[in-house]
Amino acid sequence: MPSPRPGKKTPAGPSARLRNKAARVERLLAAAYPDARCTLDFTTPFQCLVATTLSAQTTDQKVNQVTPTLFRVFPDPEALSRANLAEIAAIIRPLGLAGRKSRHLRDSAIGILQRFQGKVPPRLEDLVTLPGVGRKTANCVLLNAFGKPGLMCDTHFCRLTRRLGFHHLDDPEKIEALFRQLLPPAAWGGFSHRLIAHGRALCQARKPACELCPLRCLCVMAKSTGPKGPPRGKTTVPPEQTKARRLAT
Ligand code: SF4
Repeated sequence: MPSPRPGKKTPAGPSARLRNKAARVERLLAAAYPDARCTLDFTTPFQCLVATTLSAQTTDQKVNQVTPTLFRVFPDPEALSRANLAEIAAIIRPLGLAGRKSRHLRDSAIGILQRFQGKVPPRLEDLVTLPGVGRKTANCVLLNAFGKPGLMCDTHFCRLTRRLGFHHLDDPEKIEALFRQLLPPAAWGGFSHRLIAHGRALCQARKPACELCPLRCLCVMAKSTGPKGPPRGKTTVPPEQTKARRLAT
């Protein structure tokens, strides 16, 4: 590997100020949501993968209503790989996107059988090769099924970290890459679960309850809209671009 040319600077990581802010947010979230955890029901890595795949664009509660039947009818990758797509779709129809999700589930089961000896692979780079498995799903499986570090950059994670002023990004992959540098791997899972819990409880997309929020003192969005935060129902984040950029560099 060629060594860097003399005088050429290597790109700097996030600032100490941003790292410090991430640690403070992590501490406040840990105090507010000490028991936050995955709210999908499963008992095996295969079930975790299936439930997480099904959770796209629906709620974990709805997924938990259909998975007992799905897991009974298709208990393992072998059974699911032989499934008729219409049969899977009939069970998961209440979740929406039944056709696409059925195909992803069956094709993932086939991939697990053909390439991973029938076992869900415990590595991110392998998981993302399965149909319908993106980085968010792969991180969720690593974290919740295998107890490995994982950052689950779902819609809550991206929205909250943007509102808090960590970045002004839309791409979950870039946001994940940023937080891989801001927090130690041991903190990734707890931080993800707690941020998601906070997004569901208080910092909802349409109605952030800033007046009740323990993160208010660190939040760019709340600071830019007054002590009580934005009016309820206001969806757009005021563009505190200058400040957010200063924090993100
Ligand atoms: S202060 Fe408001 S916008 Fe900021 S994290 Fe809390 S609820 Fe969300």
